[in-house]
Amino acid sequence: MDVTVELHQWIRAAARLVILSGAGMSAESGVPTFRDAQTGLWANFRPEELATPEAFRARPAFVWDWYEERRARMRDVAPHAGHLAIADFQRRHPGRLTVVTQNVDGLHQRAGSPDVLALHGQIAQDTWLDPPRPCCEAAPPVPGRPPACGVCGNLRRPAVVWFGEMLPARELAQAERAARDCDLMLVVGTSGVVYPAAGLARATRGRVVVINPHESDLDDAADLVVRGTAAAVLPKVLADA
Ligand code: NAD
Repeated sequence: MDVTVELHQWIRAAARLVILSGAGMSAESGVPTFRDAQTGLWANFRPEELATPEAFRARPAFVWDWYEERRARMRDVAPHAGHLAIADFQRRHPGRLTVVTQNVDGLHQRAGSPDVLALHGQIAQDTWLDPPRPCCEAAPPVPGRPPACGVCGNLRRPAVVWFGEMLPARELAQAERAARDCDLMLVVGTSGVVYPAAGLARATRGRVVVINPHESDLDDAADLVVRGTAAAVLPKVLADA
C-alpha cells in the first residue's frame, strides 16, 4: 500500500494528533536553515557564536543586526500548502491536533494554526535581556541597536531560545503532555538532533510518522517514514481526513 494512503487512514483514526515541526517545515516557504542563512557578512560566523546570551552581552549591536537580517528575510515569506493544510485540519477538527514547533519564523501561526507551542520562541518578538524592573515597563524602550530602557539600560533582545538557555517551561510542559497522550505524531522537517524537542517523539505512546525527504535521527523511532516534503505530503494526507 502507498504509505500516504496508510498515513491518511491513521490520521482519520487518531483522536489526538501532534505535529512536531522543524526547520525543514519552512524550507519550501524559502526560509533558510540556520546554516544556509550564513551568507555575506555573516558567512564567517557560526550560529553557536552568535545565538548565545554571552555573544549578545559582548556585542549587542552586532548580534542584533544578525537577527534584523534574518527577520527581514522572514517577513518576505509566506506559509505554504503544508502549513495551510494543518491549519485547515485544525479548523475542521477543533482541539484534535496540537502543533509543536522548533521554528521561530511564525509561519504556522500566520497560516492560522491556533495555540502553537513554539518551543524556541518567535523571532519577530522582543523581550528584555534581564528581568524587567519597574522602570523598564514604565517607559517605552529608547530606540537604538538594540533598544534599551532609558533608565537602567536593560536591553531588548529577540524572543528566541539561545544556545545554553532553557526552553519556555509552560510550552515545554504542554508539549510533553500532548506528546505523551497523542495517538499519532507527525514529525515533519526536523533532523531530530536538537533536544529536548526530539525527545518528544521518543516519549509518545502513540504512533510516530516521520515526513522528511532525507534520513533523520528519528527514523529509528518511526512506525512509518514518508520520504517526501512537507508541502507535498501534508496536503495529501490531511485533506478529507
Ligand atoms: P535542521 O536544520 O537540523 O533539520 C532540517 C530537516 O528538515 C532535515 O532533516 C532535512 O532533511 C529536512 N527537510 C529539508 N527540507 C524539507 C522539506 N521540504 N520538507 C520536510 N523536511 C525537510 O532543523 P531542526 O531539526 O529544526 O533543528 C534546527 C534548529 O534551528 C531548531 O532548533 C530551530 O529552532 C532552528 N531553526 C529554525 C528555523 C525556522 O524558524 N524556520 C530555521 C533554521 C533553524
